[in-house]
Amino acid sequence: MENLIEKAASKIKNSKLTIALTGAGISVESGIPPFRGKGSLWEKFDPMKYAEINYFLKNPNEVWEVFLKDFEKTLKKAKPNSGHKGLFELEKKGLLTTIITQNIDGLHQKAGSNDVIEFHGSFANFYCLECFERVDIQGLDLSQIPPKCKKCNGILRPDCVFFGEMIPQDALERASMLASQCEVVIVIGTSALVQPAASIPVVAKTSKAFVIEINPEPTPLSDSIADITLLGEAGSVITDLLIELETF
Ligand code: NAD
Ligand code: ZN
Repeated sequence: MENLIEKAASKIKNSKLTIALTGAGISVESGIPPFRGKGSLWEKFDPMKYAEINYFLKNPNEVWEVFLKDFEKTLKKAKPNSGHKGLFELEKKGLLTTIITQNIDGLHQKAGSNDVIEFHGSFANFYCLECFERVDIQGLDLSQIPPKCKKCNGILRPDCVFFGEMIPQDALERASMLASQCEVVIVIGTSALVQPAASIPVVAKTSKAFVIEINPEPTPLSDSIADITLLGEAGSVITDLLIELETF
């Protein structure tokens, strides 16, 4: 592991353009459960059903009651952990340009990162299904479920991408461009199964980038396109990387 950290740090140090792709795993240490794996939401219910757009549109009351209500509470109290903070440290050192995140929790921005592409939108904002009036998470009134629009009494939805919805065009374009231009991509806490985000490391690899993966469990990337897999939790591995980078 020590040698792998050293090699990863050296690649990052010598790269002209490094990006990170993050998934639910980087926020696990902030108390937000991922969709898959140990302690995941999957163990309670099927996120493919409750985070799927057609199911939500047909059953908004149920989805708010079973899933979104608690998810909102969890996100509201979550704070950036040493993984998020470590990525901001890398940015400050000029060693990380952009984070492409599949997360909707806003924790990279809270940690200070300045260039975050929210590939799946954000849970910081909501809008009305009827009149599109917007409200932010602070103004969201959950005293009744589902929460309603103050203007027209329509049901509110989060401004994030549900399964079955399109990725915001600007996010998709910028992410694809960076994937094809970067020299190093650090893939952190993602099972690399959800498309099209999963194709980002593939595009990077095809364009000759070095792929560093950080995850406590091997993923489909580990035996295929990852050049290095650093097995461990995001917070401690990123901290180790930063310590190693100090020695250069
Ligand atoms: P996922 O739930 O499919 O996979 C999580 C991955 O994180 C797994 O590979 C797991 O081994 C790894 N992991 C667990 N603990 C970790 C840790 N401490 N450090 C590093 N890695 C760890 O997540 P996904 O691939 O991002 O896909 C699920 C989709 O669900 C995402 O696209 C996202 O939009 C959404 N989601 C977001 C949040 C959030 O915003 N925090 C939470 C759950 C789901
Ligand atoms: Zn409305």
